[in-house]
Amino acid sequence: MMGGARRSLPTRAKILLPLALLLLVALSVKRLLLEPRPPVLWELAGATMGTTWSARFWSPGDLADRLAELQDSIAAELELINRQMSTYDSSSELSVFNASRDTLPHPLAPATISLLLRARQISDLTGGAFDVTVAPLVAAWGFGAAAPARPTPPAPDELADLSRRVGYRLLDIDSLAGTARKSQPEIMVDLSAIAKGYGVDRMAGALRRAGVANYLVEIGGELLAAGVRPDGGAWRVAIERPADLGERAGMLTLELADLAVATSGDYRNYYEYQGERLSHIIDPRTLRPASHAGASVTVLHPQCATADAWATALSVLGPEEGLALAERSDLAALFIVRNAGGFELLTTTAFTVVADTASPEEDG
Ligand code: AMP
Ligand code: MG
Repeated sequence: MMGGARRSLPTRAKILLPLALLLLVALSVKRLLLEPRPPVLWELAGATMGTTWSARFWSPGDLADRLAELQDSIAAELELINRQMSTYDSSSELSVFNASRDTLPHPLAPATISLLLRARQISDLTGGAFDVTVAPLVAAWGFGAAAPARPTPPAPDELADLSRRVGYRLLDIDSLAGTARKSQPEIMVDLSAIAKGYGVDRMAGALRRAGVANYLVEIGGELLAAGVRPDGGAWRVAIERPADLGERAGMLTLELADLAVATSGDYRNYYEYQGERLSHIIDPRTLRPASHAGASVTVLHPQCATADAWATALSVLGPEEGLALAERSDLAALFIVRNAGGFELLTTTAFTVVADTASPEEDG
């Protein structure tokens, strides 16, 4: 008190102050007892496609006793995709088609046919940079299902020989009949560049059908976000710094609203040979691993399968050709490019959802 003098409170304040305190206590008690607590954020996880899946979700209603049902429906969805189109499972429908050596039409699951049509569109739009028949070259460079422990580059005549077995136009797709046909009996179809994204879309479908509208689902880093977090904020996702193997750090954070994000790059799956970085992303036009300064490409799209395919396609094309095509195609794309000082970010006009480039923090 000023001057140290003790002044007694006016009579009105003597009455009102305890009343106000009482009101405050009553309101807090009411809030604690009556108001709904913030909804619980649930998380489920599992293994698929040689990697892991996870799903974070919440609902205004209580989901506690429906978790087993949700886990089963997501797992069933992913198992079905594997039975239809895995190239790691020799008994899948697609593996049986790949093993056949004829030029007859083969019936495939409607889901596989429609994914093949989607892949074909991106092949057409990228001048064949994206190509689901590239597997023989992927294997020759030491990647894929039967990758050797110490890969070495193939000889040029081996590549020339294999090139006869690569080309998406060698695959005929009849969507009405639901069949695929090889016009060259030795070609094979590998959906690795699009399947994780497709699986993410199907996980989202399983949650939506169960009445869950707010989720962040993911397979091996390809993600799809819908709705919001329990606190009402947007789902946040970190994009990795394309550092070398073993190092993991965020580079920027995205806020996603009803959007999928897929990232491809040469920084995770590669080996060095005579000073050259050889990655698992193969340029079907040169028959060699894509080689340019682009370290990673991130694509945003409402559908994760499409984001996934484009991320691989733009990785093949590289920052120059790829950025120009992404801009013309109105795609939201981010290229993280190596330069002398480290990394540089290049984006298309449609890529506008960056939340924060300084302090990455991740929900998924
Ligand atoms: P992603 O991780 O989605 O970029 O997919 C990479 C995988 O796609 C590789 O491991 C290969 O199996 C396959 N792949 C490599 N190059 C291509 C390409 N040019 N078109 C389609 N798939 C490819
Ligand atoms: Mg991909």
